[in-house]
Amino acid sequence: MNFQELNLMPELLKALNQEQYTTPTPIQEKAIPVILEGKDLFGCAQTGTGKTAAFSLPILQLLHKDGYGSERGKRSIRSLILTPTRELALQIDENIKAYARYTRLRSVAIVGGVSQVGQERALEKGADILIATPGRLTDLINQKIVDLRHVQILVLDEADRMLDMGFIHEVKRIISGMPKEKQTLFFSATMPPEIAGWMESLLRNPVKVEI
Ligand code: AMP
Repeated sequence: MNFQELNLMPELLKALNQEQYTTPTPIQEKAIPVILEGKDLFGCAQTGTGKTAAFSLPILQLLHKDGYGSERGKRSIRSLILTPTRELALQIDENIKAYARYTRLRSVAIVGGVSQVGQERALEKGADILIATPGRLTDLINQKIVDLRHVQILVLDEADRMLDMGFIHEVKRIISGMPKEKQTLFFSATMPPEIAGWMESLLRNPVKVEI
């Protein structure tokens, strides 16, 4: 199996070539077709398995096919990726920027512990994809700097860690401000009862991908 066979578009294949990715990892092989079909997904995978590309590549393709700011009015946040830690958010943003190199899609990372000003400026320029930790994102939503009413694809990355870190209520509040009609991708390495129940309430006919 190679990336062409996963039906990824040339703009992404070119970037993957540059990253010297030759073969999809097992989670990529399983998850990419499901996400491209627009289905909800539950992924049971640890960091280090290629999980980031497994969700980022199909998201980039879906948003690229959906069109761009100039064609659609103002650029809006069409995908939100929530992660428990700042390090993870910045790493995902870095990967997405590399994969999106030959598209016109823009990503912005919103994390705590650094000045808000730079993030506000980045948001003013417009973002298609937002990668965020729950705390700083909540601040920016409360200040009406971030608008999530156009989100089409939501990713919850390391949901079990978000629970452990006490972010669940914040994350639930964030999700309540987004359209009900959207594609949700839920990743968790473990499945404690709280996570199982929450996942069930969020996902519609999800495809389960385990590696
Ligand atoms: P992740 O699990 O998303 O944190 O990815 C772990 C590492 O594997 C990252 O450094 C990725 O850049 C790299 N990676 C992801 N997918 C592939 C692939 N198909 N081929 C080679 N490296 C990859």
